[in-house]
This record gives sequence, structure tokens and C-alpha cells, in this order.
Amino acid sequence: MFSTDRRAFLKAAAAGSVVSVFEIPSLASAANAGPVKPSPGSYSFAIGEFQVTMLCDGVFFLPTDSFATNVQPEEKKPYFDAHYLAPDIVRLQANPLVIDTRQKLILVDTGLTPGTEWAAHAGHLAKSLSAAGIEPGSVDTVVLTHCHPDHIGGLITDPTGQFPKADLVLSETELDLWNSPDAASKLPDWAAAGAPAVKQVFAALGDRLHPIKGGSDIVTGITAVDTPGHTQGHISLLVGSGSDQLLITGDAITNIHFSFDHPEWQIKWDHDREQAVKTRSALLDRAATERLLVVGYHYPFPGVGHVVKEGKGYRWLPADWVVDG
Ligand SMILES: [Zn+2]
Repeated sequence: MFSTDRRAFLKAAAAGSVVSVFEIPSLASAANAGPVKPSPGSYSFAIGEFQVTMLCDGVFFLPTDSFATNVQPEEKKPYFDAHYLAPDIVRLQANPLVIDTRQKLILVDTGLTPGTEWAAHAGHLAKSLSAAGIEPGSVDTVVLTHCHPDHIGGLITDPTGQFPKADLVLSETELDLWNSPDAASKLPDWAAAGAPAVKQVFAALGDRLHPIKGGSDIVTGITAVDTPGHTQGHISLLVGSGSDQLLITGDAITNIHFSFDHPEWQIKWDHDREQAVKTRSALLDRAATERLLVVGYHYPFPGVGHVVKEGKGYRWLPADWVVDG
């Protein structure tokens, strides 16, 4: 099932028969992933009374031709070259985060499943939590923006034990999608193979599952925002405390380059690519117009910054890394 043979993987990807994203090989041997012994990472900042801690889960790889799927090669290649995006594989970071509201400790997304080939350079959530001084047992709530394996992955191995007292919150649309008896017919082929693992997480958590509707508060100050397209039930989060606000985009805005310059460029991993374009454009516009602080799950760590309108698109403006004390 797994293959570390890069050529075979790319050939399969080009033919559209690539293994499920749940089974994608790491390509680690083919790509320069940086240090051999990665250090865990965390970065904290305040949103009013809340403390937000970004956690580095690591990096993983996806084929370049899975991005900008509606763009001709003669337009795509020079753009990707100019942005140091390799012609065969793109490296993505995974950035879960914790919000400490002073009442509740809320983890948003859980990274990749440690020990899998896809997570050869990821799956470091536990180490990064430890580095940040956060006990997994103190997490009250895990929120999933959606159920792709780079977001639910940290729950797959031990759904009830990884965060032993935590409830799991996700949109009811997302729960219904993956938990449906005919999930395979509602999911893209590459995602359908992962549905059983997701269902097992839901079954193990039982009454600790709390599906919500978009627009509802997870706790006071943290509101779910429906951002469908990447998955049917994908949610982003709007965090507000005092006069501060933070938009957690999840995967509605995937990449700091092409998702900003060309929100209309489609992505294979979006279940409904046309809806995803609409959602991405609307969310970018909102972030820029309302001057919101933004965090992105797949942005270079820590992935905190602003969205600026530029030309026909937008530009990612990273925030300074501020160290208190
Ligand atoms: Zn993702």
C-alpha cells in the first residue's frame, strides 16, 4: 500500500490514480526536509484575555500538480518557479494551535498521525505541546476544522486517550459527511478510503462528540464560521476577546502564495472546488476589509499575519515574532 518510490508515486499522481491522501507516502527521502532531528516548536501571543499558542506539528508533502488544477502549464510553471515551489512536490507545514480562554483550554486541529510514512517529518504535536508546557490531559475541547488526515491525524491512534478529558467539536455537516453509511459516495475517491478511520474516532469518542452549526459559539468568544468547499462541513473560527479578533482559517485559504495571488486557482484536495474558490475569495476579502489578524494551518510557522489586498488578489503579510519578558 505504501511506497517510498518517488517516481512511482509521481507517475501515479500524474495519472490521477494516486493513493488516497490518507496513504500518501512521505517522499521524505526525495525532498530536503531540513534538520534530521526536528525541534518541537511553539509560539504564543495574546488575543485580549485569551492566550493563543501555535504548535508546530511538522511538514509533509503533496504533488505539485494537485495545486492549480484549472491552470495551464504555461501559466502555472513560471508562477511556481518564481515562488520556489518545486515542479514535482510541494512541502506544507501543519500548525495546530491551543486557545487558553482562562476558563477552557481548546485545541484546534491535531496534526498528522505519528509514526505513519506520511508523517516522517510531522506528527510532533505531543512534543510541541510539551515544549509549550501544555499537558494533553488539561485540554478541555478539541475542535476539528474538518476531518482530513493532517487535521484529525493526532486522534487516530488513540482517540480517547490522547486528550483524555477532551470533548470533540466539529460541524454537524462534517460529522454527517464522514459518519454517513454511504460516505464513499459523498467523498472524493482519494478521501473515501480514510472514512473508516474517521468513523472509528467518532465511535470511540461516543458522547464526547459535539456537532455544532456554523455561527454558533464553541465557548464565549470563539465562534464557528461555515467555510464549505475544502470539505462540505469545513469551519473556520473567529476568536474575539476585548477589542482583539483573530480569524483561524483552517484550510479555506491553503497556501500563502497561490491562494492569495489567485484565489480562483483550484486545488485537488478541495471536495467542491468551485465552492472552495467562492469561500476562499470571500474569506480573504473579509480578512482584508476587517483588518483581522489571521492564522493559517499550512502557512510557514507560526503562520500568524494579515491579509492585504493587492492587484486582483491578496498578499500575505506575516506578523513579527514577539517575545515577551
Ligand atoms: Zn490540511
